Amino acid sequence: MQDNRIRDIVIVGGGTAGWMAAASLKRHFGSAPISITLVESSEIGTIGVGEATIPTIRRFYQALGLSDIDVLRATGGTCKLGIRFNDWLKPGSSFVHPFGLYGQDLNGVAFHHYWMRLRALGEQVPVGDYSLGASLAAAGKFTTPSRNPPSSLSIFDWALHFDASLFAKLMRQVAEQGGVRRIDARITKVNLRGEDGFIESIDLDTGATVTGDLFIDCSGFRGLLIEEALHTGYEDWSHWLLCDRALAVQSEGKGDPPPYTDVTARPAGWQWRIPLQHRYGNGYVYSSRHATDDEARAVLVGSLDERLLHEPRKITFNPGRRLKAWNKNCIALGLASGFLEPLESTSIALIETGIEKIKLLFPSRDFDPCVVDEFNEMSRLEFERVRDFIILHYKANRRTDDPTGFWTHCREMSIPDTLQKKIDLWKAQGHFIRYRWEMFSQPSWLAIYAGFDMLPETYDLSVDGLDAGQLSGALAEMRRAVAEVVAATPPHGDFIERYARPQPVAAE
Ligand SMILES: Cc1cc2nc3c(=O)[nH]c(=O)nc-3n(C[C@H](O)[C@H](O)[C@H](O)COP(=O)(O)OP(=O)(O)OC[C@H]3O[C@@H](n4cnc5c(N)ncnc54)[C@H](O)[C@@H]3O)c2cc1C
Repeated sequence: MQDNRIRDIVIVGGGTAGWMAAASLKRHFGSAPISITLVESSEIGTIGVGEATIPTIRRFYQALGLSDIDVLRATGGTCKLGIRFNDWLKPGSSFVHPFGLYGQDLNGVAFHHYWMRLRALGEQVPVGDYSLGASLAAAGKFTTPSRNPPSSLSIFDWALHFDASLFAKLMRQVAEQGGVRRIDARITKVNLRGEDGFIESIDLDTGATVTGDLFIDCSGFRGLLIEEALHTGYEDWSHWLLCDRALAVQSEGKGDPPPYTDVTARPAGWQWRIPLQHRYGNGYVYSSRHATDDEARAVLVGSLDERLLHEPRKITFNPGRRLKAWNKNCIALGLASGFLEPLESTSIALIETGIEKIKLLFPSRDFDPCVVDEFNEMSRLEFERVRDFIILHYKANRRTDDPTGFWTHCREMSIPDTLQKKIDLWKAQGHFIRYRWEMFSQPSWLAIYAGFDMLPETYDLSVDGLDAGQLSGALAEMRRAVAEVVAATPPHGDFIERYARPQPVAAE
């Protein structure tokens, strides 16, 4: 029998994507006869941003044998209960999108129907008051979730903010300990096989050539293999996602770090603020059609009142996705596979799901087209689902004070049919559509709909069966239960101080 199994994996790029893939695939294959080589160029460097995550990252590193505390310490990390959106609905508005549930369903009817009836009765309580995650975040407090939550009211999850370069370094350490071979060199040429155009090898500036069976392209936006060598093509989404630039700057920290990412609407986009133990990460993501680089810089720098650690760095990007994440014997991960702006911290999560898909559909050297097609279909759907969720944040704004026209454009633009259908059903009935490969589940959609005051015209009729006084009492009881836990929880800064003081992994 011919042995067609893959023996040599070559990963191109040593940013977050490359080292996450190397660490995870090495762990997965263990002592199976597969070699993994990672080629990166310390001369070129990495993008150096990507510091806010969603809870799936914790499952990812736990599978590598790392605990939350290990990662917090190694990366100067802090805990993240969600994202606080400031000024998005309109100036002065604010809400938290938490990683967790809202309220308790009653009699088989989703909680939000009860909440909406109470609103119709005149009690305008923010939905966040029924979420332990959102309430802890708003109070600047943190505790890890109970292992045996007494009720759904106490269910929440959390993620991390971390220093991107320290996280990549930690992944590298795990990968190299597992036996991944690293080559520090610049790739000068990608060699394709004459008969079928598959990648045969890469040439390095050291004069060496590296051959492989499967190439994983983690080379960043340029897509050295997937695009420059294989010309795979790109689907551009800039008509829905107008932002195509970011200015990133690190600043000194001050005070207790909040347990959430701050994202604040600005004239031509939005600004992030990510607390770490040793500094803050800041950036302005903006549309070059609505602000010049100088105007963006003035907005960013003008909003920061602590010392900046360097000049703001400009990053140019093109929202969209690679037409095929997997083409021939090359799979793109990370920025090489496409880019959706970091509003909901989804890029690293898409790297995780990409790695899981590689494990699930690991090919032989035949590269059976049905395996490749399935991978590409899953990737397409994942990207599109995230895209729709992000577009909702723009579409739903009511910012009428709009000197650049950015927000008006977003409010008035047509949106993908898949998203329009979701919004229509939500508005008509308070019902959520959940498609395959959604990254965000119902509570997240509720957070954004409610945060933007985009509420259904009606609620489930069965809720009218409940006496108004009883309803008000039951929901007040839920709020009381949440508030009690918040009152008894220490500040996030105490948690960091106690468990997570930095012990960065050694620099090279
Ligand atoms: C403004 C901004 C903010 C972001 N914020 C977040 C966030 O908060 N959360 C989140 O999840 N994601 C975020 N992201 C995305 C996140 O930064 C990336 O998904 C992540 O860093 C992975 O990057 P990468 O490894 O694909 O690419 P890179 O970090 O760019 O790494 C590319 C690698 O390829 C190597 N390389 C390139 N060319 C060659 C060559 N010729 N020879 C050898 N090596 C080569 C480089 O040396 C480098 O090692 C953000 C992105 C941007 C642009």
